[in-house]
Amino acid sequence: MIVLKSDKEIELIRKSNILLGKAHGEVARNIAPGVKTIVLDKIAEEFIRDNGGIPAFLNYRGFPNTLCVSVNDTVVHGIPSNYEIKEGDIVSVDCGTILDGYYGDSAFTYAVGEVDENTKRLMKTTLVSLYKGIEAAKIDNRLGDIGFAVQSYAEENGCSVVREMTGHGIGRKLHEDPSVPNYGRRGNGKKLKHGMTIAIEPMINLGSYNIFFEKDGWTTKTSDGSLSAHYELSIAIKDKGTDILSTFEYIYEAIDKNKNINAPRL
Ligand code: MG
Ligand code: MG
Repeated sequence: MIVLKSDKEIELIRKSNILLGKAHGEVARNIAPGVKTIVLDKIAEEFIRDNGGIPAFLNYRGFPNTLCVSVNDTVVHGIPSNYEIKEGDIVSVDCGTILDGYYGDSAFTYAVGEVDENTKRLMKTTLVSLYKGIEAAKIDNRLGDIGFAVQSYAEENGCSVVREMTGHGIGRKLHEDPSVPNYGRRGNGKKLKHGMTIAIEPMINLGSYNIFFEKDGWTTKTSDGSLSAHYELSIAIKDKGTDILSTFEYIYEAIDKNKNINAPRL
C-alpha cells in the first residue's frame, strides 16, 4: 500500500534527509587512502546521534552498521570493515537516518585519487541516470517511466542496470511501497501522485548486470568483477513539480576541500 504524505510530513522527511546530507559530508571529508571503512562508519554514526538522529541502517533486518560502504565491484550493502581504502578505488557510501520518526536515505559514489576513463564514464552515467529518473518522476507519469529513463540512459552509455534491487517508497519506514525499479517500460506501472515520497537509486555496472550475494547475506558483487556505482536521492512527487528532499550539497562542499576524492557533477 502506498502511503501518501501531507506537506508537513514531506518537510519532516526533508529534515531527516538534510541531517543525512550533512552526515554524508562528514564522511566525505574523511575519505582518503589508508582509511578503514569502519572508521567512516563510526564518523557517520556519531554525527547522526550528535545531531539528534538515529542511524537507520544499524540493526535494520540485522544489518550491523550505520553505513553501507561498497568498494569497486561491490554493488551495494558492503559491510564496513578493516579494509583500507586505496588510491584508484571507487567507494559507494549509502546511509539512512531517522529524525522525528521520518527516514532519510541517500547514497553517493566517490573516486579515490585518479581513475581511468571507463570508471569516470560509469560514475557520470550513474549520476546522470539518477537525474533522468527524477525528471521522469513527475505527476501523472508512471513508475515504468522512471525505470525507462534510468535504463535507457545507462544502456546508451554502455553500462548495465542491476535488476535485483530497486528504489522504494520512504517515510515512516525505510522501505515502503512502491518498489521503484531502475528498468522498465514507458507508461507501465502505478501512476505517480501528489504526496508520494520515493527514493530513486540506480545501481549501475560497467560490465554485465548480473550480481551475486556474498555468504554474509548482505554484500552484493558484480558476477564479472566489473565496477559498480550507486547514487540515490529521496524525492516527493507534487502537483507543482517534483521536490528533491535529499541533498548532495554538503558532499560537494567536502569534495572541494578533500583532494583525495573526486566525483562527477551534473
Ligand atoms: Mg534506498
Ligand atoms: Mg540508500
